[in-house]
Amino acid sequence: MTDPPQYLSPTELKEWQRRLAEANKNNILCHCRACDREWVASTNETCTCGSTRVEHIACWQFPDG
Ligand SMILES: [Zn+2]
Repeated sequence: MTDPPQYLSPTELKEWQRRLAEANKNNILCHCRACDREWVASTNETCTCGSTRVEHIACWQFPDG
């Protein structure tokens, strides 16, 4: 451990944003409002029951704990 960074450098900020976007892309919690099924997907999928009434929630938005 050396001096703690006061601000993210442009490179670090870019990396942070990229990781956020990636987490969002790969960890989408899908919830079907028709059959109440829940699953994790990398895209905004429709449900296997055929319903398109699916909620898409990015997992990284959930608070820790
Ligand atoms: Zn369904």
